[in-house]
Amino acid sequence: MRALVLSDFWKLTVDEVPDPEPRPDEVLIEVVATGICGSDLHGFTGENGRRRPGQVMGHETVGRVLAVGAQVPAGTCAVGDAVTVNPVLWCGRCRQCRAGREQACPDKQVIGVTPELVSAFAERMAVPAQNVVRLPDGMPVEHGALVEPLAVGYHALVRGDCGSGDTVLVLGGGPIGQACALAALRMGAERVVVSEPAPARRDLNARLGVAVVDPTTEQDLPAAVATALDGESPTLVVDAVGSAATLATAFACAPLGATVVLVGMGAPAVELAAYEISTKERSVVGSFCYSAAEFRDTAAWAATVPESLAVLIEGRADLDGGPASFGALARGEDPSSKILIYPNGRAAAEASSGRDPDPDPAT
Ligand SMILES: [Zn+2]
Ligand SMILES: [Zn+2]
Repeated sequence: MRALVLSDFWKLTVDEVPDPEPRPDEVLIEVVATGICGSDLHGFTGENGRRRPGQVMGHETVGRVLAVGAQVPAGTCAVGDAVTVNPVLWCGRCRQCRAGREQACPDKQVIGVTPELVSAFAERMAVPAQNVVRLPDGMPVEHGALVEPLAVGYHALVRGDCGSGDTVLVLGGGPIGQACALAALRMGAERVVVSEPAPARRDLNARLGVAVVDPTTEQDLPAAVATALDGESPTLVVDAVGSAATLATAFACAPLGATVVLVGMGAPAVELAAYEISTKERSVVGSFCYSAAEFRDTAAWAATVPESLAVLIEGRADLDGGPASFGALARGEDPSSKILIYPNGRAAAEASSGRDPDPDPAT
């Protein structure tokens, strides 16, 4: 089969790779679409050290079931089903897994990150049955590729204990910031404002139904944030960038006792204003990935907000267009938030779209 291989940093090639050979407890999937994540871009450039030359990346994906292994539990999925994939592989036996914190499993591997796993920028993939999540009927199939980043945002807001009384400030309006803003709305936050310097990203967030501010032009950002929140200070700040500057902004905007969730991974280490935490009794909470239940719940919820999800997808390419898309995004020449790669081409995907009454992928 064909796949997008990271031949070297800054170099992706479309190569022939061995076909996946699913085990009896696995599901074989024909990939419809896979989103390019910020972490894939940093892997492409070699910046984050979390991807290795030779590997096939891709962890935000949706596809159709081609074959179901003999040991897959009945009712998991059937041939032709549209499914998304939780890319976090967990053992299911350890203390963390038994407590429903699969993302903290010490034996965790991640599809698209672990170099040995052939991942979703490929025509087909084999994944354990427990990672396969059927899309609700009627959901546009390509929206399934957004479930993974949306689950990252949802977990961040769960970590921040977001509820109906909350006023939420999200720092950074890229894909994770967008997912956090949508998660705040999903969890009933009273008001949500996104702080984002790039005009195109501010516009996109505004189309999601949240307030936006430009941190580069506001003389008094905390005041502008409060104005956007109907005069309230944020009770919850989500840092979807994760830099020294955004953490400083979080503390400048969050009042005494507020919670700051750190989900952005912009910098591996930052200097922290310790007194801003101690004397103001703020809670700083880390967030990474999502539990298996949060991923499944997010797939179900995603079907209820198709208009918002349509806004998030800003570009599409087939496998041969993948190297150019990665290059343009990594060099900052393409301002798109989310580009989807269609490994089997867009024509094939449309022929088996959600509205197609014939689920046979061979037709
Ligand atoms: Zn991602
Ligand atoms: Zn485990």
